[in-house]
Amino acid sequence: MAEPTQKELIRETVKELFKELGPVLQSIALTPEKLREAQKPYEDPAELARELREQQNWRRQENEKDKIKLERQSHCPHKDKNGKWAISLVHNYHDHMPRGICPLCEAFIHPAYWDYRPVAQPDGSIKDEGYIVKEHPLYHVVRTLESF
Ligand SMILES: [Zn+2]
Repeated sequence: MAEPTQKELIRETVKELFKELGPVLQSIALTPEKLREAQKPYEDPAELARELREQQNWRRQENEKDKIKLERQSHCPHKDKNGKWAISLVHNYHDHMPRGICPLCEAFIHPAYWDYRPVAQPDGSIKDEGYIVKEHPLYHVVRTLESF
């Protein structure tokens, strides 16, 4: 049997090397999943936490503003210093029903209307269900002002 040539020796060595490295190469191969994961933009946990805190602060401030506004509205006479209704009428609504706005407390005085809210169904899904929002307690004032 002839001695293997140097070329044949190298070929055998490379073959053996790849056989041993096979599992390692497979484990570092770029699969579509790994590629997708690598392409995701980096999200800094500290940045995410900061955004969440800002959102919570903003919501807390909005709730506080709403509370103050409702408090102001509950004490507002909605009348000017001459004792006349301060409520202004607004007419540009699709249902042609007037609305009223108190310039003193920003109270929005609306008629009864249909609205929708998400309601959990027995099958676990969520569907919007219609319900009637009662008219604002001062809507009678809007009706009276509209009749003038
Ligand atoms: Zn008012």
